[in-house]
Amino acid sequence: ASSSCWEHRVVLLGDPGVGKTSLANAFAGIQERDLLEQHGGGCCVAGRGSLSSVTPGEESWRRSQCLQVGNAYVIVYSITDRSSFESASELRIHLRRARQAEDIPIILVGNKSDLVRCREVSIEEGRACAVVFDCKFIETSAALQHNVDELFEGVVRQLRLRREGK
Ligand code: GDP
Repeated sequence: ASSSCWEHRVVLLGDPGVGKTSLANAFAGIQERDLLEQHGGGCCVAGRGSLSSVTPGEESWRRSQCLQVGNAYVIVYSITDRSSFESASELRIHLRRARQAEDIPIILVGNKSDLVRCREVSIEEGRACAVVFDCKFIETSAALQHNVDELFEGVVRQLRLRREGK
C-alpha cells in the first residue's frame, strides 16, 4: 500500500540551504533510499513518485515547470533564516497563480528546529503564516529526523483524502 502513495509527485520549494535535499534524503531513508537520484541544482527524485525541489531564484521556466508538475507541495523555510521565511510567502503566491483553480495539498515547513539558539522565526509566526496560506504547518529537523515521517505522512494523507473525495 505504501508504494502506491508514491505515484504522486511531491515538490519541495524553498530558498537554497533551508534543507530541501536533506528532508528528501531523510524521507528516502525511511522509504527507498536506493531510488533517490540527484539532479543538478538541488532537484531530487525519490521512489516511484518524485520529490523535486526548487528555489525562488531559479530560472523561471524550471520554476514554472515545478509549479505545474506537483501533486502536492512542501514549502520549506529555515527557522534560522528570516529571509527564507519571507521567500516562502513569495513561493506561495507563485503557486497560487500557477494553480489557481486546483485544490492541491500544501504544507508549510519550518526546518532546522534543532538549531534552537539560532532561531529567527517563532513557531507562532509559522502557524500564523500557514493560516494565511490556508495550509498545514509543521516544524521539522532533517538533521535529527524529527517530524520528517509526520511531514510526509501528512502529505500522503492529504493526497488520499483528495483522491477519495473525487
Ligand atoms: P537545500 O539547498 O534546501 O536542498 O538544503 P540542503 O538540504 O542542502 O541543506 C543545507 C544545509 O543545511 C546542509 O549543510 C544541511 O546539512 C543543513 N541542514 C539541513 N536540514 C537541517 C536541519 O534540520 N538541521 C540542521 N542543523 N541542519 C540542517
